[in-house]
Amino acid sequence: MSDTHRVAFLGLGVMGFPMAGHLAKAGHAVTVYNRTPAKAEAWVATHGGARAGTPAEAAKGADFVFMCVGNDDDVRQVAGEAMQGMTPGAVLADHTTASAGVAREMAALAAARGLAFLDAPVSGGQAGAENGVLTIMVGGDATAFGRAKPVMDAYGRSVVLMGESGAGQLTKMVNQICIAGLLQGLSEALAFAQKAGLDAGKAVDVISKGAAQSWQMDNRARTMLDGTFDFGFAVDWMRKDLGIVLGEARSNGATVPVTALVDQFYADVQAMGGGRWDTSSLIKRLVT
Ligand code: NAP
Repeated sequence: MSDTHRVAFLGLGVMGFPMAGHLAKAGHAVTVYNRTPAKAEAWVATHGGARAGTPAEAAKGADFVFMCVGNDDDVRQVAGEAMQGMTPGAVLADHTTASAGVAREMAALAAARGLAFLDAPVSGGQAGAENGVLTIMVGGDATAFGRAKPVMDAYGRSVVLMGESGAGQLTKMVNQICIAGLLQGLSEALAFAQKAGLDAGKAVDVISKGAAQSWQMDNRARTMLDGTFDFGFAVDWMRKDLGIVLGEARSNGATVPVTALVDQFYADVQAMGGGRWDTSSLIKRLVT
């Protein structure tokens, strides 16, 4: 099989637009679909390739179909339509953050049609997508993964098969549990530093060389102290993700009290009008 393929990308949002761009730069023949056609037109104007009016049309004849949409219902709709156009043997990889249940549902639907479905949520944010350095956590069939991985390498720095269908989404849930607790801790620490009369920026500089260091500290502490939140990963998306985590924890018996509490803190941020603010805006509840 040649190294370049006919591929489709469905959903050209903040993440999908640059991810599809990396596929074009890698030499694949890309057909894109976006619900709002203007974004697909803009993508073709930037990257060449072709655009289609429906997911099924975009997926027709593609070896690999990639998608990145919003939530479980969007996945059901877009994946369901795409599968109607796909050729048996093709692989559909979904980069949406969704539930493990919907991943297993789509995998069963795909198998019944002679297709493969991989749940492949990503971490690394908009910058990771633009720079092609995403972490991709994958669930599904090992053979399909082996075929799709070299293609996903166009925008993934670490692309790892975690297990059967749903395992990619479960791993993304682990990621979000880590981030929720960590950001609340960082928010409390920075607010404490300010109340204590310290130079909070200087405090971050010194402790970031030690055991308290984190990606969030390196990439968000400064903007949290500046009160800048109009970028990054939106609170509305985080609440969707934490809802998925809490649902999964209810069914697998995991105890996640801090995650449940931070989810409520994010509800406070939404009530403050911060649904589109970056997740580091948790600190807004603590400082004026
Ligand atoms: P976004 O900018 O809002 O883009 C969402 C895309 O999905 C748009 O292209 C939208 O089409 C399309 N879409 C949604 N529902 C659809 C439906 N029912 N039918 C057809 N198209 C539909 O979102 P994003 O930031 O790219 O995030 C996409 C996914 O990646 C989410 O699951 C998110 O949780 C996850 N994620 C995001 C980040 C991040 O930093 N942004 C990081 C990791 C993971 P329209 O253009 O027509 O609205």
